Amino acid sequence: VGALADLLYPELCVGCGRRVRGGLCRQCAGRIPRLPLAGCRRCGAPGPGVAGCPECRSLHPAFDRAWQAVEFGQVVRAAVHRLKYRCERSLAAALGDLLAEPLAGPAGIRLGLPAGSRPGFAATWAPTTEGRLRERGHDHARLLAECVAAALGWPAVPLLGRARDTPPQARLAIAERRRNMHDALVAALPPPAEVVVIDDVYTTGATASEAARALKAGGAVRVVALGLARALRPEREQ
Ligand SMILES: [Zn+2]
Ligand SMILES: [Zn+2]
Repeated sequence: VGALADLLYPELCVGCGRRVRGGLCRQCAGRIPRLPLAGCRRCGAPGPGVAGCPECRSLHPAFDRAWQAVEFGQVVRAAVHRLKYRCERSLAAALGDLLAEPLAGPAGIRLGLPAGSRPGFAATWAPTTEGRLRERGHDHARLLAECVAAALGWPAVPLLGRARDTPPQARLAIAERRRNMHDALVAALPPPAEVVVIDDVYTTGATASEAARALKAGGAVRVVALGLARALRPEREQ
């Protein structure tokens, strides 16, 4: 088996460790808990479908809508970690499908997003810092955003740049995350009227909100922040 399996299925599933093409097998992908479509109409937090939950009322988000497809649990955490350090397009595509599939249906309709490209619409991402880009050799946020956009027929455009270097959000407490991202991004290109920002994990919404602020400062009118996963209990996710 060994050599041929290595050749055909060079990756191990992040969930179960079996050899699989794409780094995430069907069974493990199927077991990742999906987030409901109904929830906070502003930030996507699970709960009653009203606009503005306690979480986003304290954030004052610059984005118009946010939504995340799955819970940030063990398998997604391992997958995102692997994507940060290894440039695996197939794993990015498998993760991207978790977000792209609902967006091609009811989630996309609910968020008012197009099925395919339309004028005045583009997808983008918050780029990683220069330092981490040099260290890792690739930008996992870009890779994920490109995979999601490709699956949906959306143009993926590098609309955002870094105004300054920032420490990784994952090491910071909630209040520090907001300070850390304050004015950290700028529009690198004039954005179209409507933009979706695609990210891996939504924790406090600080990055999504800063991306929306920068895009709107550059001329965007409507910004929807899409996350692959949501950390449901940020204080325990540290
Ligand atoms: Zn698996
Ligand atoms: Zn909310």
